[in-house]
Amino acid sequence: MRPDLLKMKEVALIYLDRSGGLQKFVDDCKRYNDSKQSYAVYRFIISINPSDIAELDAALGNQILHKPMKAAQIFQSVCFIAIKTLSLIEQLQTEAQINIVLKPTHLPPLPSYVLSLCEFPLDYISQRFYMSEGIVIAMGTVTKYTQGARFLCSEETCPFSEGFNYIRVHIPGATESATVRNDFVCNLCASPLREDMKFRVLGDKQLVEMVDAKSLSAFQGYSNNKPHFRIQSFTVFLRDELSNKMKIGNRYRFIGIPACIQNCSQVTVCIEVSSIQLCSTSCISENFKYLLSLTSSSCWRFTAILANIFASQVVPPGTYNTLKLSILLSLVQTCDRDRETADYLDLLIVTSDTLIYI
Ligand SMILES: [Zn+2]
Repeated sequence: MRPDLLKMKEVALIYLDRSGGLQKFVDDCKRYNDSKQSYAVYRFIISINPSDIAELDAALGNQILHKPMKAAQIFQSVCFIAIKTLSLIEQLQTEAQINIVLKPTHLPPLPSYVLSLCEFPLDYISQRFYMSEGIVIAMGTVTKYTQGARFLCSEETCPFSEGFNYIRVHIPGATESATVRNDFVCNLCASPLREDMKFRVLGDKQLVEMVDAKSLSAFQGYSNNKPHFRIQSFTVFLRDELSNKMKIGNRYRFIGIPACIQNCSQVTVCIEVSSIQLCSTSCISENFKYLLSLTSSSCWRFTAILANIFASQVVPPGTYNTLKLSILLSLVQTCDRDRETADYLDLLIVTSDTLIYI
C-alpha cells in the first residue's frame, strides 16, 4: 500500500475515534447486525468537520474537500477493517458492500467553495463540495431510488456467480440507469451480469427546484437597468434523511456536490445535497407581525398606519403622509445587502402636503 494512503487511513481512524464518529459507527453496525438481515450495501453517514481533520492531516482534509469520492473510499476501507476485526456485522462479506456518505459540517469560508448559480461557467465536473444558496420554488413527492444492488455472473461455473463481488452503489449525480441496468458484463469471463433483485436496497429521493435569491428582484416591480435577464431554476436532489427537509418559499444555504445529468439529448446541472441550513430571512419584529395580522382585513390599512407613524420624532403623526409613503416605498426597494440588484426609486418633491384618503 502507498505510504501516504496508509497514513490517511490511520488519520481517518484517529479522527473517527476522537470525534465520536467511531462510537456512532459501532452503534449503526449493531443495528444492522441485530436485524440479522443480509443487505447488498450497508450505508453509514460520517459527519466530518473539515477544520478538525485538516489539523490532524492536511492531505486527508484536502482529499475530503476536493475529492470526496476518493476520501469516502479511505473511510470505506477503514470501516471494513473495523467491522471485520471487531466482528460488528456477521452478514457482511466484502468491502464493496460498505457505502460511506461523508457529510461536512461546513466548508472553509472562501470564495472558491461558493457556487454562485448566477455566474458561469459552473464547475459541475470536478465532483467536489460547494456551498450555495437558493429559494425553493417547487418540489416533487418523495420517490424511491436504488441505493445499492447486487449483481451476479450469469455463467454458473464462474466464481463470481455467487458472493458479493459486483456491488453497485449510487454515487452523487448518477442516474438510476447508471446504478442498475442489464448490460454489465463479468470482468472474469465476460458473461452478462444479472441483478439479484432480492438484495436491492431502496432509498428515498426528492427533487426540489430552486432559484438564486437574486432572481427575486425581477418580481419587485421596477425596471432593472439590465435590458435582458433570465431566471433559470436548478434542481437539487434530497436523498434519504434529507427528504422533506425543505419547504416551498424558504431560503436555504446548503452544501452539495454539483453534477451533470444527461437525459437523452438534454443535459441538466443539478446538485446532490449533503446538508441543509435554513436562512433566517425574517428580521421583522413580533410587534410588526402583530400589526400586520390586526390590519389584514384591508389591503391599505397596514401601509397607511406605517406612513402615518413613520418618522414621528421629526414630524407630527398624520402630516406629510404622501411624502412619507413615497420614502417608505423607496426604502422597500433599497436593499443594502445586495448592491448589484439595488435600483433606487428617485423622489422629487415639489408639492405641499396632502393626506391619503382611504
Ligand atoms: Zn463470470
